[in-house]
Amino acid sequence: MSVTTGIQFIKGVGPQRAEQFGRLGVATVEDLVRLYPRAYADWSAPLTVSQAPLGEPCCIKARLLAPFAEHRVRKGLTLYKANADDGKSGLLQITLFNNRYLAQKPQAGEEYLFYGRTAGNLLRKEMASPEIEPASFAKIRPIYRQTEGLSSRVIEGAVQKAFALTQDLRDPLPQTVLEAYGLMPLEQALRQIHFPDSMETMEAARRRLVFEELFLLQAGLSQLKARSRGETSCLFSQDTTRDFAARLPFSLTGAQRRVIAECAADLQKGRPMNRLVQGDVGSGKTAVAAALCHMAAANGFQAAMMAPTEILAEQHYRSLSGLLKGTGVTVGLLTGSAAKAEKERVKAALLAGDIQLLVGTHALLQETVAFRRLGLVVTDEQHRFGVGQRAALAAKGDNPHMLVMSATPIPRTLALIIYGDLDVSVIDELPPGRQPVETYAVSTKLRQRAYGYIQKHLDEGRQGYVVCPLVEEGETELIPAAQYAEKLQKGPFRDYRVGLLHGRMKPAEKEAVMRRFSHGEIQLLVSTTVVEVGVDVPNAVIMVVENAERFGLSQLHQLRGRIGRGEHQSTCILISDARNPEALRRLKVMRDTADGFQIADEDLRLRGPGDFFGSRQHGLPDLKIADMMEDMEVLRQTQRAVRPILEADPSLLNPAHAPLKAAVERLFGESIASMN
Ligand code: ADP
Ligand code: MG
Repeated sequence: MSVTTGIQFIKGVGPQRAEQFGRLGVATVEDLVRLYPRAYADWSAPLTVSQAPLGEPCCIKARLLAPFAEHRVRKGLTLYKANADDGKSGLLQITLFNNRYLAQKPQAGEEYLFYGRTAGNLLRKEMASPEIEPASFAKIRPIYRQTEGLSSRVIEGAVQKAFALTQDLRDPLPQTVLEAYGLMPLEQALRQIHFPDSMETMEAARRRLVFEELFLLQAGLSQLKARSRGETSCLFSQDTTRDFAARLPFSLTGAQRRVIAECAADLQKGRPMNRLVQGDVGSGKTAVAAALCHMAAANGFQAAMMAPTEILAEQHYRSLSGLLKGTGVTVGLLTGSAAKAEKERVKAALLAGDIQLLVGTHALLQETVAFRRLGLVVTDEQHRFGVGQRAALAAKGDNPHMLVMSATPIPRTLALIIYGDLDVSVIDELPPGRQPVETYAVSTKLRQRAYGYIQKHLDEGRQGYVVCPLVEEGETELIPAAQYAEKLQKGPFRDYRVGLLHGRMKPAEKEAVMRRFSHGEIQLLVSTTVVEVGVDVPNAVIMVVENAERFGLSQLHQLRGRIGRGEHQSTCILISDARNPEALRRLKVMRDTADGFQIADEDLRLRGPGDFFGSRQHGLPDLKIADMMEDMEVLRQTQRAVRPILEADPSLLNPAHAPLKAAVERLFGESIASMN
């Protein structure tokens, strides 16, 4: 028995419970002891009746005056009521529902602790369905996130038993670090985070576990980034921007020129470029990528561009092929859904050097994809890729240059951590002639008028989107996209060609729909958020977003970026009946602001950084206990603490670092293990 033992071997946890725990991501004993409580019920410092705050969970110590009295209200509803007296400030009326068993346990005249929410007024307080323990209980009790069939109490019991099996738990933090930063040893910290002696020891335990998590994060990121300190044989000594720009149907904006020049300078240095290009939707990042791929080819190197979805990969393939037309650069496409023979053909051409720019999805990461001379790796919409996936693609060349393109503005402090040694370029200018999208927020009462407005534009030869939120299971008030599309096609849009795009469609089906839309065969596209990232149809000028309150600000901004991409004035109509202030605030920001960076700031302010980071946006490992903003100070400490260790032992091969190495690999997954 060890910490890697499956939890079904813990006493009292059978296969069924194990399956329920599986839904919380818990498979082993170690997973279980690292399933941290989300809050605590403090029974150790009970309050008097008058001290108890209304509406918040609290613990009150009081003497039961008389046994619970039974009140049968109706069939199926029996109340048990009793009064308790704290001897100082007043009476607490306690009510239990349908629970004779619980009502019979407490003895009149004895002192008890009652834990629950109080209601009432200053003179008279009540507590419904409290938990009841003897007055000597005095513990701090963990509260866990529950899942169906698993109550917090059941989890608590299993965690308690799991500690019988943790003898071989090894602390990933080196002893020297524990001492230097005054941290609790692992086992003690785990016990204290679940069953703290006091709130102070819980805080100390939390600090240690936060430290550990951020330490592992820093260690992993540093290892992944170490490659950039190396040298590269990829020298792009020839700057071909002029030749490239001369062939374009438009002239590059000043910002595009500046960013290309910043990259070109990196490419001539003999060290791999690691650059993040941030630019709002529509700022023309693709042309920047094309210029650099052109430069790679002209200098005898191949380039790879990886996109998060097939739709985007195929679209990039088309636009890059267009932008590079006549330059002699051959562009290839590799996605998972291509026919086997086609894949083989592309791979062979790549290896022979006949393809100079390969565009694709994750399919590029396969082992069988080999380049003749990879010199530049471009990833689009970086938040969909893990840090490790980028590294895996780079590993197909000899320290190739890396360009990461992102339309998601990231606040500077966070960028410094995530992209520690990535240089940042910003495309802060839109191509000329763009008219800002006019945005309106309206109630569902105006939906018919919105339809009429769409029709007017379709009649003029333009196209439009109707976006509906992803339908979650069990929600009946939302119409699934498919049904909605049918309703529109049979009703108000019977004379128009309506198409449908949603996440459950096969990639090939999605692609077919997108192709028909971009060729103008579909006039109105009903879609879930799959249309969100990077889709480019300049003739689409109107977008209606249903249940707009269900989308985050950044998401709405990305969606809106699908229109206003051509010469025509575009309009975005956000439909919502939401009344809550936060939703109204979001709609107002969308109406008033077109600037992506400003919207990202506002998004961060409204949602809070925890959410920002929790949502896997950056391809970073999920953090269980640390909060990047709240724990900023600890984060700085871990940055300092990691450095000397990795300087002395970059691949963590020292046997004393084995637990650290294993823990980093656990946090980052395969990608980092394969690098060492
Ligand atoms: P994003 O930064 O969102 O990826 P794209 O690269 O898709 O933006 O560019 C948006 C549109 O603007 C495309 O249709 C592209 O051809 C066009 N475009 C890019 N640069 C310029 C420019 N300098 N002048 C005019 N149009 C441009
Ligand atoms: Mg793009």
